[in-house]
Amino acid sequence: MVEMKNIPFPIPTFDLTGKVAIITGSTKGLGEGMAIVLAAYGAKVVVNSRSQADCDQVAANINNMGGTAIGIKADVRVKEEIDDLVAKTVQHFGKVDIMVNNAGIGITKRVTEMTVEEWDEVVDTDLRGVFLGAAAAAKVMIAQGIQGRIINISSAGGLVGTKNIAAYCASKAGVISLSKTMAMEFGKYGITANAVCPGYIPTAINTKPLEIPRVREQIINKTALKRLGRIDELAAVVLFLASDASSIITGAYIAADMGTTCN
Ligand code: NAD
Repeated sequence: MVEMKNIPFPIPTFDLTGKVAIITGSTKGLGEGMAIVLAAYGAKVVVNSRSQADCDQVAANINNMGGTAIGIKADVRVKEEIDDLVAKTVQHFGKVDIMVNNAGIGITKRVTEMTVEEWDEVVDTDLRGVFLGAAAAAKVMIAQGIQGRIINISSAGGLVGTKNIAAYCASKAGVISLSKTMAMEFGKYGITANAVCPGYIPTAINTKPLEIPRVREQIINKTALKRLGRIDELAAVVLFLASDASSIITGAYIAADMGTTCN
């Protein structure tokens, strides 16, 4: 940045020094990218998934990069485990400023072929998990008087229908709706709640479809930018929502989808 004098208002900052961030589902893919970028901007980060060994490994990598991270295992579908994740974060770092509800899964099946168990597995992770994570973090933020940030990872699939992933799309649309209601309930405490709707970004969640050249081409053709996204580009959107620079945004969703849903 350029050193300037006599600027008549505070310059927006993305600096997260002194902030504590939990990112669920951050041992790989988009969540890992978010953890690295938030740590690079000064946040102390909590890496999470269902495997303590994976959490420890990614946290160690971030510490080796010069950031500050710990790993805490929790299954986002289980209230006791999510509450424990938040409680252990407070024990270790003293507070929670930023809660990124990112953990998510997809099961590819037609509506007529999907079992109730498959439906429940997706909705429990992608929608119930966001509710549990946001509620647990918000309770601590409110109790501690922290003007925190709740960032919920939805999907372009939450904005438009997509064949064969009905439970995923329904959950992700629910995440957008949930974020709006949470924004209304948490606003008086200065806590913002927003959703991010990524388009296709190559990770383990979409290896199979992206390996089929015809499908990959169709996905790319649907975007305005005629390309897939990158992990660092999505992390940049989360950084913005986590930072003071987004202070007047709440109850919103940001389509970070290369222009897939703009037509
Ligand atoms: P990924 O499969 O690479 O990573 C998912 C992470 O979530 C992993 O760390 C996994 O261990 C964790 N996880 C899964 N179930 C969990 C549970 N019950 N409890 C705790 N952790 C759990 O997927 P990704 O592409 O990085 O996706 C991250 C989020 O972004 C998901 O919510 C996904 O729906 C969303 N998203 C991804 C894309 C994309 O193109 N990659 C597009 C739109 C939305």
